Amino acid sequence: MKFTILGTGTSTGIPCVACTCATCTSDDPKDTRLRTSLLVQSETTTIVVDTSADFRQQMLLNAVRTIDGIVYTHHHYDHISGFDDTRPFTFFNDDIPIKCFALQQTHDVIRQTFPYAFGQAEQIGGGVPGADFTIIDDEPFMIGDIEVIPIPMKHGLIRVNGYRFGNVAYCTDTNHIPLSSIDKLQGLEVLILDALRYHPHPTHYTIEEANEMATMINAQTTYYTHIAHQIKHAECEKELPANCHLAYDGLQFEVT
Ligand SMILES: [Zn+2]
Ligand SMILES: [Zn+2]
Ligand SMILES: [Zn+2]
Repeated sequence: MKFTILGTGTSTGIPCVACTCATCTSDDPKDTRLRTSLLVQSETTTIVVDTSADFRQQMLLNAVRTIDGIVYTHHHYDHISGFDDTRPFTFFNDDIPIKCFALQQTHDVIRQTFPYAFGQAEQIGGGVPGADFTIIDDEPFMIGDIEVIPIPMKHGLIRVNGYRFGNVAYCTDTNHIPLSSIDKLQGLEVLILDALRYHPHPTHYTIEEANEMATMINAQTTYYTHIAHQIKHAECEKELPANCHLAYDGLQFEVT
């Protein structure tokens, strides 16, 4: 399986509009971060995790031509707002709806946000997203030849899902992974983990908390994502434990 980190930025994206800080004005390409998302590909199957606010740009940059399934982590706008830009994938695939997998609340918020895609169009004739939703919880499911294992987590007060694909897990937008979920994260080659910034936040891990979680979960390599503009890539990277790194947009790796 091949993994491409499509975006590593927190909800504002980096640079942050109207900000003149050292990260937002940096020349280092690793300080430019689209909104958080992941591409997972086998020989025959392509999965996108979340339709971020930068979904269109991410699909173009990575020349994604087909999608076999979209897996949602949760309903926050930075993770769902690219939903309308899934339309070309159905236009070029005989109008076959894209299989989408989401928690009940995530599905409900997507329906409320994009009512025209769910049989409530004001007028027939415009192209609307075609999505075939399956409500999931914590049971593993298949998309093509890839098994997807939900990892229940807390993101402040709300329940979100991380996901495990083989020996890689994606745990963004969380500040608490319960022990029952840590059991599902054993033997990982790569963990991609939320690490927002240095100072505390009510719904995201700090760098220090992420370091503690990375040590506990003990993947061979841990990459941090959903990074805020207080983090300058080169400076933060130097201070991280040996097997922990900041992810950056376009980072790719393969796992057998
Ligand atoms: Zn987010
Ligand atoms: Zn800034
Ligand atoms: Zn969130």
